[in-house]
Amino acid sequence: MGKKRGRLIIISGPSGVGKGTVVSILMKKCDNLIKSVSITTRKPRAGEVDGVNYFFRSVDEYLAIKEKDGFLETFQIYGNYYGTPAEFVNRKLSEGKNVLLEIDVQGALEVKRKMPEALLIFIAPPSLEELKDRLKGRNTEDKESFKKRLSAAEAEIKRGSSYDFCVINDDAERAAEEIREIIERITLKQP
Ligand code: ADP
Ligand code: 5GP
Repeated sequence: MGKKRGRLIIISGPSGVGKGTVVSILMKKCDNLIKSVSITTRKPRAGEVDGVNYFFRSVDEYLAIKEKDGFLETFQIYGNYYGTPAEFVNRKLSEGKNVLLEIDVQGALEVKRKMPEALLIFIAPPSLEELKDRLKGRNTEDKESFKKRLSAAEAEIKRGSSYDFCVINDDAERAAEEIREIIERITLKQP
């Protein structure tokens, strides 16, 4: 008998809500879960490592991958391209691994159309005020990028209502545990 195919899990939420923080706690809790590293044309932030946080590529390199149908989905946001590498995700799913994508709402809904079995989890802030404080506290964005991210947040939170689950990131450890339980429940039910 062939190996049971893994489950695709997509996590989205507005910039600064704590996706990166929650996902890094979650990855330590789950054995059979692997995170797909996206490809982007955005410049690395201080401390970000190529191949770990993202594959940082030039626009020309990005478009060459796109030309060869190398992306499961691709999206342009805040003036940069972001995309999910198709071959990696499909290979890991066939090997029976659950694969986690941390991508924006539009990309997530595009993947869901192609792969309806994907599990969509939205991370929401306790309030918009708190979101603003976190994004400010992270201190990674210039004024322009900060404004763009905040103004996108409200629309993203509205679109998040079409997700399978919504988890409030009030406390990162608690939110990661809630997501772990959701994944466990859903993957156990899977035939
Ligand atoms: P995202 O990946 O969604 O853009 P980050 O993980 O970078 O967000 O988190 C944004 C900021 O909020 C970081 O400074 C992080 O330490 C902080 N943060 C994350 N989760 C929480 C939480 N539950 N409570 C308070 N601060 C948090
Ligand atoms: P950041 O620049 O803060 O790392 O990411 C900006 C937004 O792009 C976040 O909402 C993040 O989830 C999203 N993102 C990261 N990688 C991808 C990807 O491969 N595809 C899509 N559609 N969005 C992505």
